[in-house]
Amino acid sequence: MNADTKWVYAFGGGNSEGEAGMRELLGGKGANLAEMAKLGLPVPPGFTITTGVCTAFYENDRQYPGELNGQVEAALAQLEAAVDKKFGDPANPLLVSVRSGARASMPGMMDTVLNLGLNDETAEGLAQLSGDRRFAYDSYRRFIQMYSDVVMGVDHGIFEDILESFKEENDYSLDTELTAEDWETIVREYKQAAASELGRDFPSDPREQLWGAIGAVFGSWMTDRAKTYRKLHDIPASWGTAVNVQAMVFGNMGETSATGVAFTRDPSTGDTGYYGEFLINAQGEDVVAGIRTPQCLTEAMREKMGDPSPSMEQALPESYAELAAVFDKLERHYRDMQDIEFTVERGRLWMLQTRNGKRTAKAALKIAVDMASEGLISETDAVMRVDPAQLDQLLHPTLDPEATRDVLTAGLPASPGAACGAVVFDSDEAEARAKDGEKVILVRIETSPEDIHGMHAAEGIVTARGGMTSHAAVVARGMGRPCVSGAGQIKIDYASKQFTVGRRTITDGEIITIDGASGQVLFGEAKMIKPELTGDFAKLMSWADASRRMKVRTNAETPADCQTAVEFGAEGIGLCRTEHMFFDADRIAAVREMILSDGQDGRVTALDKILPMQRDDFKAIFRIMETRPATIRLLDPPLHEFLPHTEEDVADVAAATGLPADLLMQRARDLAESNPMLGHRGCRLGITYPEIYEMQARAIFEAQVAVEKETGVKPVAEVMIPLVATSAELAILKARVAGVAQAVAEETGGQPQYLIGTMIELPRAALRAGDIAHDAEFFSFGTNDLTQTTFGLSRDDAGKFLGDYLEAGIFEKDPFVSLDKDGVGDLVRIAAERGRATREGLKLGICGEHGGDPSSIDFCEETGLDYVSCSPYRVPIARLAAAQARLRRQS
Ligand code: PEP
Ligand code: MG
Repeated sequence: MNADTKWVYAFGGGNSEGEAGMRELLGGKGANLAEMAKLGLPVPPGFTITTGVCTAFYENDRQYPGELNGQVEAALAQLEAAVDKKFGDPANPLLVSVRSGARASMPGMMDTVLNLGLNDETAEGLAQLSGDRRFAYDSYRRFIQMYSDVVMGVDHGIFEDILESFKEENDYSLDTELTAEDWETIVREYKQAAASELGRDFPSDPREQLWGAIGAVFGSWMTDRAKTYRKLHDIPASWGTAVNVQAMVFGNMGETSATGVAFTRDPSTGDTGYYGEFLINAQGEDVVAGIRTPQCLTEAMREKMGDPSPSMEQALPESYAELAAVFDKLERHYRDMQDIEFTVERGRLWMLQTRNGKRTAKAALKIAVDMASEGLISETDAVMRVDPAQLDQLLHPTLDPEATRDVLTAGLPASPGAACGAVVFDSDEAEARAKDGEKVILVRIETSPEDIHGMHAAEGIVTARGGMTSHAAVVARGMGRPCVSGAGQIKIDYASKQFTVGRRTITDGEIITIDGASGQVLFGEAKMIKPELTGDFAKLMSWADASRRMKVRTNAETPADCQTAVEFGAEGIGLCRTEHMFFDADRIAAVREMILSDGQDGRVTALDKILPMQRDDFKAIFRIMETRPATIRLLDPPLHEFLPHTEEDVADVAAATGLPADLLMQRARDLAESNPMLGHRGCRLGITYPEIYEMQARAIFEAQVAVEKETGVKPVAEVMIPLVATSAELAILKARVAGVAQAVAEETGGQPQYLIGTMIELPRAALRAGDIAHDAEFFSFGTNDLTQTTFGLSRDDAGKFLGDYLEAGIFEKDPFVSLDKDGVGDLVRIAAERGRATREGLKLGICGEHGGDPSSIDFCEETGLDYVSCSPYRVPIARLAAAQARLRRQS
């Protein structure tokens, strides 16, 4: 910033200092107004005060830059010249609108003040000039109400009450019945009301009004609502907002005047055809305020909705034709669907805004695909147009928009999709009932890692407590389970197995439906619609696949998940966590027997019972995956997680092993750890109990041989050793696994096709990747543990205080959701470089949660990984994100 910094940019009147490319400086609205003026479209002239002023204002103790006043005065003079009116001149008054305009459109900020510059004298001047007294005083009362409300914080209800009682006293039912004199009376009453609220006169000096409105826009950048919105949408506070001051044009100047909003295509379906609403003889806020019912823009839309009022196409055919031509021009120019505001003043069309329109995921897909077919954009442009995170909306069954909704309450829309089932309050019970074929919704005050099995078994999850990054929310999203979190009105009573919400009580077994997209919890079964994965979706995904370099795999271990992932386009398994196969109810007894038996023989006996089950698991997976590679990770969780919990559990093990119960209890106590995440887990188990990994390796290789014999298709396994810190660990375990492969080959005469590699999930492993790569045929970055160990931040407990860290700005994003590119990312880069320096072309992938997060996927592309792996429901998101990451680097 220096003395000749330009703070103000003029547009309109045949002159435009800005353009669309300057949205950082001019905000979205200002940049597009400038661009439209440049294109020769009818834009009321005005000027934009830059976002730089907002930033300077907050950096400088809420003071404006010294030169601002002079630059605003100069722009105002230019504006006066362009429209041949004068600001504050009673004989020929210039009136302006003042609007905010951030880079990204941002609810929560001061929006609009219209008719600014009116006072008793200029209102009279406007009446003379327009020849319409009623219009002048109607505009004046609107201004007092709007300015008092948005700039001075006076409750608008006060003004509405005045108007309502006036109408009642005079037997009016519609605003249109009020005469010019009536509005004059209202203006007097409004001014009195404002003065008594404010404790001083309503400002009548137009310049004071203008600076008041400018100050209100900049002030609104730091309101709680704006801050919350920015946080939710990752908008940095440093961006600031611009202010747009623009000559007023009037849609309320009689029957040939109108105002409206429109989209160049349908924003909810993406269908072609203009879509919008308008009102005759009205100002902008009337369309959104719902005081009068707007009419349809087009005849097609009017017929579809069966609306009896004439469309704009009928009522104002010339203005409509002009508007339609502008729509086409803007769509061709911006090469995207536009969201437009316009006004017709006595038959003359004015454009007040254009921007790329917000749209549903369905519309985003259709518009991108249609525009590519129309030749407006390329196929790769189309790929870049759809937000990968938004795809989530399309991959789950959703509530039928027509469904009747008996809404019990609403919480946070934590994980999208709709689900319906019987209410269950306990995770074990959820699992048991789901096993019996019942569809259940798990309802908990909050969830913890102990609820994972219940969450997995449930169709959906509701919690009374917790935010968008609570355990329930994060885990549900990962699993692709719909979830409503933080539904605070629900009071759960676990003991009596019921919850109340308001006056209603819902008991265990009653059916509810949850809508993870809106956060609603509904009573009963609401109608749903299935995801549509063909048509536009399939087309866009095929373009994405043609553009991407990285492969996309899935984290899956059940045949059902593998199948879903393959349908979603997974090209392999990046992580099959074998521990769940140990937790299954019918296996856990044998697992406990193995852990608690004293000595290798006992363990081998127990493992012999597990082997055939593991082999069957792998066979099922290989059949589904066919020739797609499957990375199977050998056992990882801390040993004590398998320990018996109840006396009954101990008795089962005692019966199976013949060992006394108290000895078993003692062994269980001995095995407990105070810091299990850093304890006896991962390859450390493999080192201590060689038989476990040997059994698992045998199950894998035997399954491969068996499936090849059965189907003729050769399965590809990538055997992965977890939690390696040293090259010695890997060398020892690799030799054992390879030994088993050899043995299986000799015993069966088959030839399993496999690689042996490791996870890189500890900082030491990343740093010593050069050594480790001597034995590893691939690396897979376990960024969950790598994040945990790099930060020294417990995966299971951090949720309790991460919110404070995000609030304080210490973390911009939850590092377990979005990869910390600076710290954890550095370790990944180092490991990739050092690993590949030892072994050229070393295969690199990621299998932490980050593998499904678009910004982390972008990092993976940049780092040159070969694939990302994520939960099945995120596979399409990852395919699209990987394509975008690639395309970003090509352009
Ligand atoms: C990881 O640590 O990133 C990983 C994928 O393994 P897990 O989450 O099973 O520890
Ligand atoms: Mg891990």
